Amino acid sequence: MAAGIAGTLALLPPVDGTEELFLSLGLAALGSLLPDLDEPNSVISRRLLPLPVFLRPVAIFLMGVGALLLALTGGAPTGVGVLGGIWLMGAARYPHRTFTHSLVVGLPIVALMALLVEPAWAYPLGSGYLTHVLGDVLHESGVPLFWPVKGKSRTPITLGHRWWGVEPLLQVAAICFSMVLLVERPEMPQWVARFSGLI
Ligand SMILES: [Zn+2]
Repeated sequence: MAAGIAGTLALLPPVDGTEELFLSLGLAALGSLLPDLDEPNSVISRRLLPLPVFLRPVAIFLMGVGALLLALTGGAPTGVGVLGGIWLMGAARYPHRTFTHSLVVGLPIVALMALLVEPAWAYPLGSGYLTHVLGDVLHESGVPLFWPVKGKSRTPITLGHRWWGVEPLLQVAAICFSMVLLVERPEMPQWVARFSGLI
C-alpha cells in the first residue's frame, strides 16, 4: 500500500486542492490492495468480507453479479458497474495471482475506466493497482504479468523468503518517500511547506 501511495504521489499530475489530493491517495491505497482480493486470507478479503474463508470467493462473485445487474438496471453508472462487475467475477473465478495480477487484464480495465468513467479516479486507482502487481515481480514466486499466456515474470534477483524480513524496511522507506513527496505537492497548504522547511 505504501509503495502504491508513493508511486502515485510521484506521478500524479497536480489536482484541484488538498481534498482531491487525499481522495486520490485513498483511491491509490484501495487500488494497491485490490489485486489480493482473490486471496481469501489477504488483508482486503478479511476486512471487506468478515465471512468464513470458503464463502469469500462466492461473496466476491455475487458482488460482481450485483454490480453488473445494477449497471444494467441503471442503479449504478454503466462504466463502473460493468468494469467492476467483470473484474470482481474474474477475481472470484480464477486462482490467486492470475486474473488480478495480469497486465493484460489490468491495463485495459484502467484505460477503459479513464475513458468511460472518470480519469481522475482511474489514474490513482490504476497506479496503486499496477504498483502492487509490478512490486510482486520482486518475489521469487513471480507474477504471470501476461496471463492468460503462461509463464511468470520475476526480476533477476528476487527477495524470496527474505522478502518477509525486508518488506517492513521497504514499507518504512516508501512511507518516508511519500512524506517527502507529499509536503512538496503544490496542493498542500503553504504552512506545511513552511513547517517542513524548518525541520
Ligand atoms: Zn499480489
